[in-house]
Amino acid sequence: MTDAPITQDVLTIPRKLPVDGRTNIVGLTRDALHVALIDMGTPEKQAKMRVNQVWQWLYFWGVRDFSLMTNLAKDYRAKLADHFDIALPEIVSKQVSADGTRKYLVRIAGGHEVETVYIPEEDRGTLCVSSQVGCTLTCSFCHTGTQRLVRNLTAGEIVGQIMLVRDDLGEWPEAGVGTGEQGPRLLSNIVLMGMGEPLYNFDNVRDAMKIAMDGEGIALSRRRITLSTSGVVPEIARCAEEIGCLMAVSFHATTDEVRDKLVPINKRWNIATLLDALREYPRLSNSERITFEYVMLKDVNDSDADARRLVKLIAGIPAKINLIPFNEWPGSPYQRSDWDRIEKFADIIYKAGYASPIRTPRGEDIMAACGQLKSATERQRKSRAQIAAETGTA
Ligand code: SAH
Ligand code: SF4
Repeated sequence: MTDAPITQDVLTIPRKLPVDGRTNIVGLTRDALHVALIDMGTPEKQAKMRVNQVWQWLYFWGVRDFSLMTNLAKDYRAKLADHFDIALPEIVSKQVSADGTRKYLVRIAGGHEVETVYIPEEDRGTLCVSSQVGCTLTCSFCHTGTQRLVRNLTAGEIVGQIMLVRDDLGEWPEAGVGTGEQGPRLLSNIVLMGMGEPLYNFDNVRDAMKIAMDGEGIALSRRRITLSTSGVVPEIARCAEEIGCLMAVSFHATTDEVRDKLVPINKRWNIATLLDALREYPRLSNSERITFEYVMLKDVNDSDADARRLVKLIAGIPAKINLIPFNEWPGSPYQRSDWDRIEKFADIIYKAGYASPIRTPRGEDIMAACGQLKSATERQRKSRAQIAAETGTA
């Protein structure tokens, strides 16, 4: 078995738009926007105020045209349009599941495609956002992991997914009608659980989340954002300090031997090292608990002994354990655990004092469930033989 790559080999794209040399304003943090406006000739004394004005148009009202930013002088609006573009990724297609889940295929610069999934629930609406095209990691049960083509999404492309879906949901406030904050939000939560490993695209993910959390724009609380990592240990503390969102971890196994196969990054940072980092997280980020994601794979990680080991391993960490019935994909080398097995597993964890919800698969009919995301336009696909060789299931 070859070692899984643990660093990225990614393309970067310039912020300047190749077509006309303008800068994409979407995805600039407040600080970056401040600098950019001064570079454009905005007097320093006015810069802070201009940042606020532009920011609210972009992220509170959802305006996409500088000429509509009516509290700015006309010549200033024209100047903005000369220097900046308001560029979002493009929705290529949308599929709506029988259960209301919406899966969007989103095209980003360079023609790459990623998926974004909106999951409506009674008390919330969760958007599952992608952070990379494909993933450099090769978790053996994950469809995205079979996709080799990888590029990091820019901050604009990450926050852009939120903006596009708010467009589709009609969720921007209407000028003169109110702030749109009367009812429950349609898009109230973000999970960084789409394609890619968010901690391998740290800076862009952080900048995008800072924009999404900013109280004068999209204004999602940091407690409504959950970042899921496969276990990039050195970035976990940084995530606490620089983003402060909730943390989920793709745990999936209770011995290093099994986790090495399922989540190969475990060969670099093993279970003990990962748990040490997670133990620190709630304190560093001032958040209550860590979500342990655990995919239920028949006869691989679903025994009573696994459940008991899991409870022992996480002792002392405030935690919720999210059991995910495996979602099959064409050629996947595993099967979903039987339902009564999953319930038995959940029961052991529950009796040990942890919440152990079983995640109901959503959007299965449109292949929108966890781990099924993979753009149809990928160019280099791993063969089934390659997957089998990597997972030792040949
Ligand atoms: N790269 C990050 C975030 C994306 S994956 C991570 O690995 O955490 C989101 C969740 O779906 C992870 O817990 C992942 O392990 C899980 N997952 C991947 N493939 C799956 C599948 N086929 N069925 C069920 N869950 C899957
Ligand atoms: Fe990448 Fe996460 Fe899939 Fe692993 S589970 S291959 S880290 S997207």
